[in-house]
Amino acid sequence: MPEYPEMDRYRVLLSDALAGQKIVSAEVSREKSLNVPADEFIRRVQGRAIWFVERRGKHLLLHLDSGERLLAHLMLGGWMYFGSEEEKPDRTVQVRLGFEHGNLYFIGLRLGYLHLLSAREAEARLAELGPEPLDPKLTEERFAQRLLAKKRSALKSALVDQRVLAGIGNCYADEIAWQAEVLPGARIGALEPAALTRLYASMQAVLTEAKTLGGYMEHPFRAGDVTTGGYNSQCKVYDRAGEPCLRCGSAIVQEEQASRKVFFCPSCQKDH
Ligand SMILES: [Zn+2]
Repeated sequence: MPEYPEMDRYRVLLSDALAGQKIVSAEVSREKSLNVPADEFIRRVQGRAIWFVERRGKHLLLHLDSGERLLAHLMLGGWMYFGSEEEKPDRTVQVRLGFEHGNLYFIGLRLGYLHLLSAREAEARLAELGPEPLDPKLTEERFAQRLLAKKRSALKSALVDQRVLAGIGNCYADEIAWQAEVLPGARIGALEPAALTRLYASMQAVLTEAKTLGGYMEHPFRAGDVTTGGYNSQCKVYDRAGEPCLRCGSAIVQEEQASRKVFFCPSCQKDH
């Protein structure tokens, strides 16, 4: 599932491609991806310009000149592509937004969605999200406080809880834990202050690097896009079960934790 670095990449790419552009047509082949009937959706977005694109956690908000917002969440397997009908990947498209210079295709939306909301509705939907992990206002002290409010929780469960921090998911939670040398299953209450300090630093380092390298999305956003997905080969533990730990050489282990896949090194990551 795309996380903060991937969605931030989309924000930049969408801003470049769409800011100031008018939606000239819209097509919906999966009404379930919407929150309103398809004909109503089309009527309300057609002819509207996109003012700007904002990201909050794993959500994207496309601000329309009508004052309404398109709230997109890709969930598991969703992605976006911008281009002409000829360039379009050979995949089923759930929603297409047409612009004068190309189409924005929403692909792989199963649990993912594109909801048309008023400003107030959009705000309400995002109200419970925790702070952005790279927000300068999220100091080490505030970070530690937010985690410690979940004392009995396992580290990974707290890191992926969108009310604790907005934007971290399965992959980066494991990467952050590995970098900080803490087990994803460690109880928050058992962590020493030094471990919390390392977690804060590694969260910043991992997410900044992933953002700089274009995240891990496998699909380019448009023809000629070579910057998306640069982090895919940089993961140190995620999806590397059985491969040697890059720090100590032990085999990376994959387990299930609270019905989530979790990857870690059993030798150099600790539970305190
Ligand atoms: Zn190791």
